[in-house]
Amino acid sequence: MWFEHLNTQLAQREAAQLTRRLRVATSGTAPHQRVLGADGRERELLMFCSNDYLGLAAHPAIAHALVEGARQWGGGSGASPLVSGHTAAHEAVAQWLGDAYAPHIPQARALGFCTGYMANLGVVTALGDAEAELFCDRLNHASLIDGARLARARVQLYPHADTAALDALLAASAARRKLIVTDSVFSMDGDVAPLAELLALAERHDALLLVDEAHGLGVLGQRGLGAIEAAGLRSERLVLVGTLGKAAGVAGAFVVAHGPVLEYLLQTARNYIFSTASPPALEHAVLAGLRLIAGSEGVQRRAALRERIAQWREGVRAVLAQHPELPWRLLESPTPVQALVLGDNAAAMRLSAALEAQGLRVPGIRPPTVPEGSARLRVTLCATHSAADVSRLVAALALAAQTLDVSGRCRELAA
Ligand SMILES: *Cc1c(COP(=O)(O)O)cnc(C)c1O
Repeated sequence: MWFEHLNTQLAQREAAQLTRRLRVATSGTAPHQRVLGADGRERELLMFCSNDYLGLAAHPAIAHALVEGARQWGGGSGASPLVSGHTAAHEAVAQWLGDAYAPHIPQARALGFCTGYMANLGVVTALGDAEAELFCDRLNHASLIDGARLARARVQLYPHADTAALDALLAASAARRKLIVTDSVFSMDGDVAPLAELLALAERHDALLLVDEAHGLGVLGQRGLGAIEAAGLRSERLVLVGTLGKAAGVAGAFVVAHGPVLEYLLQTARNYIFSTASPPALEHAVLAGLRLIAGSEGVQRRAALRERIAQWREGVRAVLAQHPELPWRLLESPTPVQALVLGDNAAAMRLSAALEAQGLRVPGIRPPTVPEGSARLRVTLCATHSAADVSRLVAALALAAQTLDVSGRCRELAA
């Protein structure tokens, strides 16, 4: 019974162009990375899919800190944080984060998690108890959606970034406690949530505002603290989640919140309490990554990243202007997450394959990761991409635009 069912399901996914495939990289994440092909042969590809936005994963200071941390602390932490897994290396990261976010959150304190997915599940389920109501942007990341599904709270979805609709939902709610939940930078669209307005709504309706800075940390704000720094926000109602495996170049995640909120999370977030603390060597490397983000090197890398983003947007707009027959649409985004929406699943996957044939890896993203009918290429840019790398991407896209038809199949070249 089981195998027949599973094979049918898999065949259906395949027919709908929804099969996902694992690929093996044989060098570390970087704009030029070696990857094994289906034939088992190694090939260097120009990558536009990593979330290592500042290129810190390959930074020598991080590798050095990992080695130094491993020498000092060895391998695993041995236990959950409240038992014996919380080391001075973990504490140093929490202290750094508490200090860094103090201008934005009064009495800021931080709590570490092993991944951003875990942090979101932990925070949303802990705050979203049976007396609470959650108000979630429709385009929130899967981990926030899963947190809301697991939480005992009632869940309301509001249309993407629609603060008027959210205001009406909050006004209509009779819940004792309300929590607004949003990505800061939307992971598949790249746009930034209207955080100042969301915070004003949180204040007006006595709610907390949970902001997931997975794609904001390292990228936005003078010190790279994220969209809330860029927006200049300050409130004890802010609850921030950040991941450390993206721009911070290592792994893990954190929650930063006002003292009493943080203390409550420490006492009640089940996947904080019942999960082994991360290896201390990782935390030692995370501290190095955070210092790079907030320091002068971070400032320089953010400036380089902004140049690449501007170059890409200008280049792709020129390609689109030459091909009004194609239904391709570049979403508005000031961040390194750049979405080129094609709509059709097969068309997006064919375009991705056409770029790969030219030596570029730009993933096609399909439902359920994005809404039905909005399959896309998701280009991510890094500070370590050169101007020539971005030019190559734009040129490859221009060639694909000439040779593919609306559904992404090859058409005869016009004379
Ligand atoms: C990647 C991501 C996460 C999960 O973080 P991990 O550390 O990779 O588990 C959470 N939220 C958003 C918006 C993300 O993009």
